Amino acid sequence: MTDVCISMKNIMRLDLISLAVSLQNHLDKDMGFSISSPHSKSVYLSLVEDEMHAPFRALTPEHIVISTTEAKSICDYTGLDFLGYLKLCLALVLVQRKALCLNPQIKSEDLFHPPNEHCLYNRNLGINNFALHIEKMVLCNGCKDFYHCLGCDKELAHLQKKIDHWKKNTDHEQRTP
Ligand SMILES: [Zn+2]
Repeated sequence: MTDVCISMKNIMRLDLISLAVSLQNHLDKDMGFSISSPHSKSVYLSLVEDEMHAPFRALTPEHIVISTTEAKSICDYTGLDFLGYLKLCLALVLVQRKALCLNPQIKSEDLFHPPNEHCLYNRNLGINNFALHIEKMVLCNGCKDFYHCLGCDKELAHLQKKIDHWKKNTDHEQRTP
């Protein structure tokens, strides 16, 4: 069972509460794979306004975070709607969470990314740069191989489906020089 939790800062935002409900429904109905944890019955998805974990982070198999900081401006820039943005972050972080689930020797801090590669997992230059990676909307081959080797194929397939869908339905191609 996965519970969506909202931080105190975000709970003041009525738009975010309805989005959190949609995200909970998405988690309950649309995943096509189980989000269970080896250690606990519940998995918590926190929606926070925290720049440190932006745009998303798998802290442990039981605790994943999506940050809403700068999310509005990223959506404005990329043409994604807010729920689409949250679902993209969710699909990305669920791959990393599965990697932590199946490989207890790996910690959240180990999931770093080389800086010079366009990839949705590259967050080396901070949250504002994430918009540029969304524009390209690609996973680098290094990440595909890495998460495949860690046993995250179902989650990767779900992510790739989202990426393909968004590539077709956003106008980011026209904005890319
Ligand atoms: Zn990558």
